[in-house]
Amino acid sequence: MNYTLSPISKITLEGREFFIKRDETIDPYLSGNKYRKLYTLLETPKNKFTKLISYGGTQSNAMLALAAICKNKEWQFIYYTKTISPVIKKQEYGNYYEALSLGMDIVELEYDLYKEYIAGLRVDLDEKILLIDQGGADTRAKEGLEVLARELREQFKEKEYLDIKAIATPSGTGTTALYLALSLPEYTIYTTPCIGSVGYLKEQMLALHKIPKNLIILEPKKKYHFAKLYDEFFDIYKRLKESGVEFDLLYAPSMWLSLLENTRESVLYIHSGGLSGNRSMLERYKRKN
Ligand SMILES: *Cc1c(COP(=O)(O)O)cnc(C)c1O
Repeated sequence: MNYTLSPISKITLEGREFFIKRDETIDPYLSGNKYRKLYTLLETPKNKFTKLISYGGTQSNAMLALAAICKNKEWQFIYYTKTISPVIKKQEYGNYYEALSLGMDIVELEYDLYKEYIAGLRVDLDEKILLIDQGGADTRAKEGLEVLARELREQFKEKEYLDIKAIATPSGTGTTALYLALSLPEYTIYTTPCIGSVGYLKEQMLALHKIPKNLIILEPKKKYHFAKLYDEFFDIYKRLKESGVEFDLLYAPSMWLSLLENTRESVLYIHSGGLSGNRSMLERYKRKN
């Protein structure tokens, strides 16, 4: 991966100008915030580990990113997930399909056994095996977000970016937003919970670090359930795409709706990637309408 620095674009949405840090352009498999969060792992020498273990959703972006790293490092990648639907198993596209083609070994666990089994994974580790928690929620993510902060400070020296007052990025585990806020204390960082409530997001962040004052968590206007289909999500996805940048359909729509509703200042949105999941989401929206 010979990545140097991702560019910043400008779009107009509802008559407002927004800046986008184009982290989705870094790599097709390892892009957006997964590149940032797993940066330390990318910098790790091959011979440090032989095997990486993780667990979580069957179509997870983190899973695909880990599969890409393991392929690059020649580490075995074992991924635990709940029973996989026959529809996903048949698909010849999407994160699950791509991760398998990168060499991922998948282990399906029945719903009832899942929690206990995952808790037990920690027991059998040795120094050549690395366990990465669901979604890459790990203190190792800090370094990659510091690299992003340094990039931004460099780019913000240009005159056209001087008005930027705030930075936004959507949250699952909150790892990205938290470490970004800690690395850029001079900016307001906006985020919104895309999985669970504001309270749950805070809990996950607090497991990693105290929440800094410049991190503002915007509460969605409505209770959205992760990976469900919403007309307003599809609508904002379409408008963003028409304005020139494609975003993911799971996290970005809620963040954009919150930004339009709650902010007035000049905002830079950190593209968090996830485009590899769009095809299956778009198929679902097509079937729905
Ligand atoms: C993983 C992911 C997120 C959430 O990142 P966290 O660090 O877990 O908060 C946001 N957007 C996209 C597209 C993702 O894949």
